[in-house]
Amino acid sequence: MAKIVEATAYLADIEVETLRTDAVQSFLKQETVFVDLVTDDGGTGTGYSYTIGTGGRSVLAMLREHLLPRLIGADASRTERIWYDLYASTRATTVGAVTSLALAAADTALWDLRCKHAGEPLWRLAGGFRREVPLYDTEGGWLHLSTDELVRGALASRAAGWRGVKLKVGKELLHQDVERLRAVREAVGPGLDIMVDANQSMTYAEAKRRAAAFEPLGLAWFEEPLPADDVAGHVELARSTSIPVAVGESLYSAGQFRDYLHRGAANIVQVDVARVGGITPWLKVAHLAETFNVDVCPHFLMELHVSLVAAVPNGRYVEHIPQLRAVTHGRLEIENGDALAPEIPGLGIVWNTDAIDDRRKA
Ligand code: MG
Repeated sequence: MAKIVEATAYLADIEVETLRTDAVQSFLKQETVFVDLVTDDGGTGTGYSYTIGTGGRSVLAMLREHLLPRLIGADASRTERIWYDLYASTRATTVGAVTSLALAAADTALWDLRCKHAGEPLWRLAGGFRREVPLYDTEGGWLHLSTDELVRGALASRAAGWRGVKLKVGKELLHQDVERLRAVREAVGPGLDIMVDANQSMTYAEAKRRAAAFEPLGLAWFEEPLPADDVAGHVELARSTSIPVAVGESLYSAGQFRDYLHRGAANIVQVDVARVGGITPWLKVAHLAETFNVDVCPHFLMELHVSLVAAVPNGRYVEHIPQLRAVTHGRLEIENGDALAPEIPGLGIVWNTDAIDDRRKA
């Protein structure tokens, strides 16, 4: 295929669509780092990566100063080779969040190019398991919302035909979490999945105590109960509770997923295509999880993850958090509670370049 002749990166701050808080942080703004590639036959690809408020400029600098110059002259079809070479050129800062986020911006641009060149949408080129994937909603479950607001949000999600809702946990007192969850369960009945997410806020002892209190509520999973580097704690917790333990949004390499999976510490894998370093490693993690009979329910980035979840047999859920509506044309297609992977060639995201330019920061 064609050789890459231009590679540029830039950063835009996309405002959050709604106030989002969890046990440890607020989502301030989406620092979105874009990569545009051009090939000698006129092909183009756009990829992106993100942070929820810190470090975006470091990602941009990694791309501009180190990674992108290495793409010039490369054969754009050789995604594995390019990913490997870029990764190998960052030994001094690998594995790390900034490097993985930068790799993802370049890798997603390469996949956009590759899909467009093949005339295929991402979900087909990456495997094409099925086009429709179930959605669950996180937008109605933030920690600052009142119990009444949580109940209203869950009922609206159920009425829309969605399969689940995620509620943040980690209130100061255990009974506060339990009362909020119980109110939602009583309102929606047994037929809706309820997931909970502690955003790494708990100690092992506290997570074990809260999991025991949550057990009668029939939860679909307990997400990020502990700090992500506490694999041993997750092993113990997964053994001590019947609630599936979900991890992955704070892991930055495929190898970190291997550790969790082979020790039985991840019952649901939430690999985030930006944080893990792009589509190339995302697919490896998804296939690795399949060999452990574990489902993939990726974190955030529904506009990109819809195609990846659709591509693989163990893709179970896409997380509904719309965040790109201000800078894209079109909307995620939703039918009967399922998101439909876009059929247009490429990643399936139609960027509004004027709207991105208006938000350019660097
Ligand atoms: Mg989470």
